[in-house]
Amino acid sequence: MPESTLSAAAPTPLKATGQAAASAAPKNAMQKLLEKLGLQRDIDLALHLPLRYEDETRITRLRDAREGDVIQIEGEVVDCELAYKPRRQLLVKLDDGSDVCTLRFFNFYPNQQKALSAGNRIRARGEVRGGFLGWTMLHPAFKPAVGDLPTALTPVYPTVAGMPQAYLRRAVLGGLARAELSDTFAPGDLSQFNPHALWTLRQALQFLHHPTPDVSLDTLMDHSHPAWQRLKAEELLAQQLSQLQSRRARAELRAPPLAGKVGDTLHARLLAALPFALTGAQQRVGFEIAKDMARHVPMHRLLQGDVGAGKTVVAALSATLCMDAGWQCALMAPTEILAEQHFRKLVSWLEPLGITTAWLIGSQKTKARREALAQIESGEAKLVVGTHAVIQDKVRFQNLALAIIDEQHRFGVAQRLALRSKASLAPGASNTPAPTPALPRAGEGAHSFEPHLLMMTATPIPRTLAMSYYADLDVSTLDELPPGRTPIVTKVVNEARRSEVVQRIRAQIAAGRQVYWVCPLIEESEALDLTNATETHAELSHALQDAAGPGAAKVQVGLLHSRMPVEEKKAVMAGFVAGNTAVLVSTTVIEVGVDVPNASLMVVEHAERFGLSQLHQLRGRVGRGAAASACVLLYSTGDAPRLGETARARLRAMAETNDGFEIARRDLEIRGPGEFLGARQSGDAMLRFADLATDTALLEWARQEAPMMLDRYPHLADKHVQRWLGTKAEFLKA
Ligand code: ADP
Ligand code: MG
Repeated sequence: MPESTLSAAAPTPLKATGQAAASAAPKNAMQKLLEKLGLQRDIDLALHLPLRYEDETRITRLRDAREGDVIQIEGEVVDCELAYKPRRQLLVKLDDGSDVCTLRFFNFYPNQQKALSAGNRIRARGEVRGGFLGWTMLHPAFKPAVGDLPTALTPVYPTVAGMPQAYLRRAVLGGLARAELSDTFAPGDLSQFNPHALWTLRQALQFLHHPTPDVSLDTLMDHSHPAWQRLKAEELLAQQLSQLQSRRARAELRAPPLAGKVGDTLHARLLAALPFALTGAQQRVGFEIAKDMARHVPMHRLLQGDVGAGKTVVAALSATLCMDAGWQCALMAPTEILAEQHFRKLVSWLEPLGITTAWLIGSQKTKARREALAQIESGEAKLVVGTHAVIQDKVRFQNLALAIIDEQHRFGVAQRLALRSKASLAPGASNTPAPTPALPRAGEGAHSFEPHLLMMTATPIPRTLAMSYYADLDVSTLDELPPGRTPIVTKVVNEARRSEVVQRIRAQIAAGRQVYWVCPLIEESEALDLTNATETHAELSHALQDAAGPGAAKVQVGLLHSRMPVEEKKAVMAGFVAGNTAVLVSTTVIEVGVDVPNASLMVVEHAERFGLSQLHQLRGRVGRGAAASACVLLYSTGDAPRLGETARARLRAMAETNDGFEIARRDLEIRGPGEFLGARQSGDAMLRFADLATDTALLEWARQEAPMMLDRYPHLADKHVQRWLGTKAEFLKA
């Protein structure tokens, strides 16, 4: 509904005092809506900037109007009539002296009808259409023609259902007037960007809320106007400052230094026992991690490496360094299947070396869990592997010093915080041999320990994002795949050629290989998603039963989906890992981390519904052995003649490159940073105004400015961060 139709319906002043209580209710409701918009403080209101503007500063005469123009007209209502054909509508004839325009309303309140009575002078704003019956406007915004025309453009703010623009405008105007807006940096600091237009924060905000009509709307819409430059610089600086503050705050924390021991260590024995030699990249990142862990400041490192790059062994080797120093290590994965795979692998490596590994998941039997908890608390288990269960309240570590989070983007900030807090035992509280060299000295005894944190991800972060969102993070990159991998060939295939794909599966099975077939998860309808997977399972079971050749056993096709009980999921997965199942049909539960080297073909059905990084993760399930591997992306255009543009761009990117970094870069390009991060960093603040893809110069400025400001003007830095990030600032330090 046009906004001034709403404002025309604004409540009339109340007369009886008895109604005062009733009037409080809607106000509270509005307050709630403001909170929902994140508008609590005056400064939040002042920083709530318009989406677009409407020009109510001008009146256009109908005589000068052109078909399709959005204009404001002013005139006298000469007729107001309720018509019922073809449906109930209000037809208002407005005469502006040069011509007559018919305003049509399908929805209207009685008081609006009254405001549009014949004889009233009004201003109406909307798109004007010409035609057989003369000028018309459908559902224009309108108001009584009283008072002067505004001298500034009218802002239209992002809002939520139930919050009228008029109310929001008043609230923002109030916030803007009350907010403390003194500059935290001088306009001149930005002169390299706009030598001619130096704006203070207050000027910039006032202008952006109420720009003068002579401004080029383009520069407002594409955020290139100097006022926008100021705002974006402010925002980027706030973000850099808060990252820097948390980095410095972390430097004040203490962690047990897990210095590398020499001799017959677990680390040395594991290295010797591995069936392969580490790649150069694995050695390098292993060294970076070891160096961090040897310090008495907690490590905060992200290990990024493409799918299949071999992060698990790096994690295991880091864990042995920790255990060699006499401390416990925990590894947390986002799904039970993935956690279990890690558990098996680590146990197979470490049990022969005499290490007890505890296993913790949500669906565990009480007895098993109790035993695991006891082993963790007593320190008998030096390593703990599991899902979110690892961070539950009941879990008490004897002396946790290293926390490893696999597929970290699947976890929220809160969970990372919880894992860190697990180690906060005071130094000396542990009865293990005190790690050398130095524990915190006297006077520093108030410090409690934080564990070292190693996060792992197969979704690399493009450089601009790493610079801004992860300025607080050290990054190690595995940029080399283990040797002997043959590159995966990716084909984008129309659903119409499905039978050819089935033939291809037969060939793989005949060669003794295994195949994944992934069906999409349809979020609106889990049931539909199941039908899809179930049907495909039936279809493939039938079509492939004799694929292993004459006389051979019937080919087994497994089905794995998110609604299955955990035990059943495990059984299906185990069948596939053991090679008893030739084809695994699944919804996206296999998305992360599963490692079955004999699988050489991945088919993704309705690939157009998947995100780019998701597709890349899926593809990474094959190409893990020596056999040539392929990925078939089956797409369907549905009723449309062709795929939408972004879907096409995603599939094209998949066909063109296997490189996870390039995929991430294209993903960022297709989706924009907000969404790119949104899917990954639940809870982290997004940039509202700046655009990392285009505002690289401002970002660079903010990066240089932040440390200088923090050192020279710490109180201004604090003020700046509070102003921009408010209560979120603490949360961002996770
Ligand atoms: P990701 O980085 O995706 O987690 P994994 O750790 O699952 O990858 O490793 C993928 C596969 O590569 C595993 O089977 C692993 O044992 C193997 N692998 C890891 N490092 C090497 C290496 N240096 N040489 C040969 N194979 C390796
Ligand atoms: Mg992995």
